[in-house]
Amino acid sequence: MKPDFQGKVAIVTGAGSGIGAAVSRQLGLEGAEVVVADLDAEAAHCKAAEIRSQGGRAHDLAVDVTDAAAVEKLVEFTVEKCGGLDMAVNNAGIDGVRKATADYPLDNWHKLINVNLNGVFYCMKYEIAAMLDRGGGAIVNMSSVLGSVGLPTASAYTAAKHGVVGLTKVAAIEYARLGIRINVVGPGWIETPLSEQVEAAANRRMADLQPMGRRGKPEEVAALVCFLLSDQASFITGSYHLVDGAYTAH
Ligand code: NAP
Repeated sequence: MKPDFQGKVAIVTGAGSGIGAAVSRQLGLEGAEVVVADLDAEAAHCKAAEIRSQGGRAHDLAVDVTDAAAVEKLVEFTVEKCGGLDMAVNNAGIDGVRKATADYPLDNWHKLINVNLNGVFYCMKYEIAAMLDRGGGAIVNMSSVLGSVGLPTASAYTAAKHGVVGLTKVAAIEYARLGIRINVVGPGWIETPLSEQVEAAANRRMADLQPMGRRGKPEEVAALVCFLLSDQASFITGSYHLVDGAYTAH
């Protein structure tokens, strides 16, 4: 049985590209009204237009998730435009420079923690308030396999993604009796512009580490996210779900 999101309203951040775009597309195809939010206004506009051209309902907004006031406005925009908020996918994220911990540049550390961890906190802070007004909801935060294992030279990314797992667990317990389910997804190596940024040699090493011998597709992550958002996952909350082709099974 496929999820049915008819009458539901969703926010997806980082929705102009990669995994966020695939999640928005699937939510739109399955009946949700989607607010496509991204730092890149043009990308958000194009993805929302694509969903509408396929018969779905979508709006777009340029949002920097490191700006708490802008995130608050995103939630206000959604409630005004769509009448409320039922689902959110806090997916916006960046990759960082690759340096050993003692050499990790401070500005890069702060930027990465700001987008990949603080951004998820800001989103949940305002989304949860709107969902409580609606009587419940479902949130999926985007972590990574690096929410459970470490990657040398990726201290900031690994710390932020572990942080997202912890943040999800706390919020899930806090709101479990108030009708809001909150889960976290840990993708492995997925075919998106973010993973293309890794230089060619590292890409080859990463390819060798994949038990399935390939990268995952954004749609394979979107399928899990949409399941977790759906009523089919009604007793699933506070948990971390890998979609990694057995990368962490080593
Ligand atoms: P992507 O294709 O680069 O898409 C990420 C999107 O987020 C981009 O459109 C980007 O805009 C946007 N963004 C960046 N900073 C933002 C900000 N401050 N506010 C709002 N939007 C912002 O990356 P992806 O691979 O789909 O990654 C999505 C999520 O999955 C990330 O959290 C990432 O850490 C996680 N993940 C990815 C992989 C993988 O292998 N791809 C694996 C594990 C986890 P710009 O293009 O303008 O920067």
